[in-house]
This record gives sequence, C-alpha cells and structure tokens, in this order.
Amino acid sequence: MIIARHISGKIGNFRGYVRTFLLVIYLVIPWLTWNQRPAILLDIADRKFYFPGIVIWPQEFYFLLLLILLLGLSLFLFTTLFGRIWCGWACPQTIYTEFFDWIGRLILPKKFGKRSAKLYHKIIVHAFWILTSAFITFHFIAYFVGTREMLHSFFEEGLKITQTSVWPYFFIIITALFYLDLGIFREHFCIYVCPYARFQSVMLDRDSIVIAYDSHRGEPRRQSGQNIIKAGSLAKQEKHGDCTACNMCVLVCPTGIDIREGLQVSCINCGHCIDACVKEMGKHSKETLVGFSSTNYSENRTPTKFIRTRTIVYSALMTLVTAVFLLLFFYRTPINVSLQRDRNIQPLIAAGTVQNYYEIKIANMGESPSKYRINTDIIDEHKDVILNFEQLTGENPVSIMPNEIKSVRLILRGKVNNSEKIHYRLLDIRVSVEDINNPSDIVFKKSLFTIPDEKNK
Ligand code: SF4
Ligand code: SF4
Repeated sequence: MIIARHISGKIGNFRGYVRTFLLVIYLVIPWLTWNQRPAILLDIADRKFYFPGIVIWPQEFYFLLLLILLLGLSLFLFTTLFGRIWCGWACPQTIYTEFFDWIGRLILPKKFGKRSAKLYHKIIVHAFWILTSAFITFHFIAYFVGTREMLHSFFEEGLKITQTSVWPYFFIIITALFYLDLGIFREHFCIYVCPYARFQSVMLDRDSIVIAYDSHRGEPRRQSGQNIIKAGSLAKQEKHGDCTACNMCVLVCPTGIDIREGLQVSCINCGHCIDACVKEMGKHSKETLVGFSSTNYSENRTPTKFIRTRTIVYSALMTLVTAVFLLLFFYRTPINVSLQRDRNIQPLIAAGTVQNYYEIKIANMGESPSKYRINTDIIDEHKDVILNFEQLTGENPVSIMPNEIKSVRLILRGKVNNSEKIHYRLLDIRVSVEDINNPSDIVFKKSLFTIPDEKNK
C-alpha cells in the first residue's frame, strides 16, 4: 500500500469542502424521517422505494430506470465537458479514500504514510479504519433497513439478532469489504477495477476540460534543481521550459502517474498535481504548468468549444428523459388496481338471473389513508341483453391505509333479457376505482361479464 505525499492548496481545500458536504448528506439522510418512516428507504424485501412524499412500487420501477438513464446521460455530458469530474469530486471511492487519509493524518500527523512509521503506528491507523468502515457500513445498510429499526432490534435482541435478521451478516461482510477496499486496495480500484475508467476515453474529445500539463511552457524540462529565470526577465533567451523537474506532481499523485506524459486512464482528476505545481511555480513567481485545460488549448492554444455535437445530443436526450420523468411523475395516480374474474364459480342462473364473481385488489400508493369507491358499467354495445344490472360489494367505499393492499369481493348481477334468443354470451364491462378525497385519482379496468347458455347449464 503506497500513500502519496500530502499536499495542501486551493483545489485540495475546495475538494475538502465538497467532500465534507457529501459525507454529511450521506450520514444524515438515514436519520431523517418523513410521515413516521425513514425519509429515504430502499426496501428490497418489499420491492418498495420510499422517498419524501412518494413511494415507488414494484410496478413503477420505470421511474428508477428513467432516473438511472438520466444519471448515466449526465455522466456522459459532464465527462465530455469536464473530463473525470465525477471521479475526483463525487465518487464515493475517492471521497472515502481521502476521508481515510484524513483520519490517518489526524491520528498520526507526523508518521502517516511515511517510511519511518513503525508497525504499531500502522496497526493504530488500521484499527481506526476498521471502526470507520463499520460506521460507514452502518449508514449504508440503514438506507435499506432504517437506522431506528437497526438500533431497536439490536438493543432489543442483542446477539440473538443474528437469528432473526439478515442485516447483521451484511454488516460484517460489507464492513470487511469497505476496509479492504478503502484501507488496502485504495486507488488500485480506480486503476484496475472501475469500468468507468475504461470507457471514459470514448466520451472525451480534444475540447474536454481535463487536468493537463502545459508542455508549451514546461518543455524542455530542466535538470532537477537547475535554476529558473524569473518571470519578465530574460525568459526569451532561456533554452529550457519552466518545468523544474521537481517531480512534486508525481509524488503527490495517488495513482502514481506523471501527468507530464499526457492524460492517462489512471488519472482520477483529484487535482493534487495542480496544487503541487502551483506551489513549485509560485516559488519562481510563475503560473502553474498543470491545470484544468482542454487538449486543444494546451497543445495548440485553440480556444475550447463547449457547444459541440455530442454535448448538444447529450443535453437534448437529458431534456427529453427529464420531461418524460416529470410528466409521469405529475400525472402519477397513487392507486393500483388489479381485477381478476373468478372462473371457478360458474355464473349462476336462477330464474333468468346471472351472477359473475370477481376479485379486486386495491393498493393505496399514497401517503395518507383514503377511501375508494368502486363502480361498474356494462360498456358492451349489446348491453340491453342484461336488465337490472347491479353491483354487490361488501365494503364500498373501501378504506385503505397508506401502503396497504386490500382485496374486495365484487359480485355483478343482472336479469337476462330473453335468454333463448341471445347470441352474445360475453359482455364487456368497466370497473372504476375512484379516490373519494381526490376524484381526479381514478383507475379504470376492463373485464367480461359471462352469460351461460341455459342448455349447457
Ligand atoms: S495526475 Fe494524479 S494527481 Fe494529477 S489529477 Fe490525475 S490522479 Fe490526481
Ligand atoms: S510540479 Fe510542476 S514544475 Fe514540478 S515537475 Fe511537475 S510540472 Fe514540473
């Protein structure tokens, strides 16, 4: 395990604020509640995803697919515009690895990452990293189980919890994986495992803003330690470029690359090399040689174009997906109805009366209790073959609590109008389920009403 040399600077400080902000969000969200439940809960067992004000049911997983599509497209767009901005600024792998480094420096300010660190120094740091992994894992699992549920069941049952819940097993396994990844594997994950590192080169072009070395000014490099002529003096007579070959940009790089060799797959956009070069060039009153720039600008001094074919295409697709998402979201009906004809009970004929049986399942997908009215019509053009059509339901309207599903027995009855002559034995019917508190929330279902042939009875 190699730990790169620490460097402080404007980019590092700013990334530190972003990292703290994202960490706080990650750690606080599982503790927030909404309507006496976790504000965000990804309930895999029930296949329901809870968000403030909305619960995504299994039949609405297209919302998640659209969200994933939107995130994927935004990754494409931002990578095309700004390179691997995700890796350096928002990826959990980078954020937690740097958080681990911060803990190491906090515990051992003078020894962390140094060759002079003794074995017991390393053991202390790794012990804290294991505790931190457990802390991160607790919050990670809380997104799927809920913090209160986890604490409550743990304090109620103690170690017996391993017999009643599965999350403690996940807790141990994920803690071990987090520790191995963030404490041992670290940036090797970005270099050897992460698929995004592999396909990012397809998304980049010569106008993407990446971390680049200014070879125009920097080359040819001097020998290490060779003096540099101050800015504004005899610069034109210089045989050498500005790079002092101090190698600081390489020493601070967590993936161990030399950015002067050009953009590489292993660069995670952390900006440490910029801070290093700003410091080194600052000693000579010169501007940094490593900075955010496009390949077109750093190689040919061509101004960077932000509006390009691929950025237009990605933006258009994002706008389209966002519009579809919002449209579906605002026209979402928080009722789910399934209507099933009971084929096991024969439609009864008694003195020309026919009875058909159905089961309706109504799900209240809203956040408050509701009452639902069930209505049935014959919508068939031959509806006049049935007289005195009526609907019999035990409970109507039906009261249903939020996130609850209720089954209702529905019996439809009618008198056959001269059954000897009728040719139409299957009539189309329509059942509506309407939220009484919010009549615009109404769901229609179609089914069939059967008239048995009296000869075959
Ligand atoms: S070259 Fe290294 S230090 Fe510079 S941004 Fe890339 S990963 Fe970070
Ligand atoms: S930090 Fe700057 S000056 Fe030093 S080697 Fe890297 S590019 Fe050259």
